[in-house]
Amino acid sequence: ADIAMYSAKDRGLGVCVYDADLNEHSPERLGLLGELKRAIDTGELVLHYQPKVGLPGEDVRGVEALVRWEHPQRGTVPPAVFIPLAERTPLIRPLTRYVIDAALQQCAQWLAEGRSLHVAVNISARNLLDERFVDDVLEALARSQVPAHFLELEVTESAIMADPTRARAILGRLADLGITLSIDDFGAGYTSLAHLKDLPVHRLKIDRSFVSSMATDPSNALIVRSIVELGHNLGLSTVAEGVEDQDTWELLGRLGCDVAQGYHLCRPQPADVLAAWFDSVQSA
Ligand code: C2E
Ligand code: CA
Ligand code: CA
Ligand code: CA
Repeated sequence: ADIAMYSAKDRGLGVCVYDADLNEHSPERLGLLGELKRAIDTGELVLHYQPKVGLPGEDVRGVEALVRWEHPQRGTVPPAVFIPLAERTPLIRPLTRYVIDAALQQCAQWLAEGRSLHVAVNISARNLLDERFVDDVLEALARSQVPAHFLELEVTESAIMADPTRARAILGRLADLGITLSIDDFGAGYTSLAHLKDLPVHRLKIDRSFVSSMATDPSNALIVRSIVELGHNLGLSTVAEGVEDQDTWELLGRLGCDVAQGYHLCRPQPADVLAAWFDSVQSA
């Protein structure tokens, strides 16, 4: 049986141990999926937000919404456990709709408080292949009254490469609405440059596997530098995820990376906790 452990130290959260194997038809997997279906309706899914900070000026550009499951018995279940399960079922549609709705409602509240923050939501391959997805997004925008350019969608390379032609068509419709599009975990997958050139995206998010060790590993620093140059040559801005220390932050600034995100700047937090952080950086 697979054992996935998330220590309190790693996550800053409670300890969750999943002792069952999460194979396709295992009772544990089906049980979690059934509970997840309920959790979407009962408000057990909550969003944390992690700031994205501009280099080198440290202005806050926006936030990424990251979902957590506050399970009444299991404690906090991280997305790495339940998103991959949901992604293989139709449940990912109501889940993503819930996350987009909640993120846009929070965005509307920030706007009302005078904080102009863009909010990014992660979407799955299955969302991108769903004909109803663009309408789902339009309805959420209408409900929240938030202008489309405040919404950013993060799509992984692998989600795009699952069906590049279809992905390009849907991304094109989303871009036409004024939504910002980012390729997530860039460099970890296999986007061919021919595809990248034709994708209607605005940003590359450089995968954490390169960023987190770039200050000590010259070959990873070289990869980050190459991605920044590639992005800029294609007219895309570049975002580094997983910035964990000051050396990495400074190196990214020297390499011309546009935006950074990571524990060194701020951990993902509930919106009310983040309010104090926003105030502290504004007055700094
Ligand atoms: P991701 O989109 O690549 O998100 C970044 C992950 O890195 C987040 O983990 C974040 O908490 C973590 N992180 C941020 N800064 C640092 C850092 O400096 N060091 C390290 N070691 N980690 C950092 P999280 O929140 O556990 O999310 C994991 C993945 O789950 C996400 O990876 C994303 O693929 C997925 N996910 C999260 N929320 C959603 C969602 O609402 N919908 C979908 N479809 N996927 C989601
Ligand atoms: Ca992401
Ligand atoms: Ca990542
Ligand atoms: Ca990811």
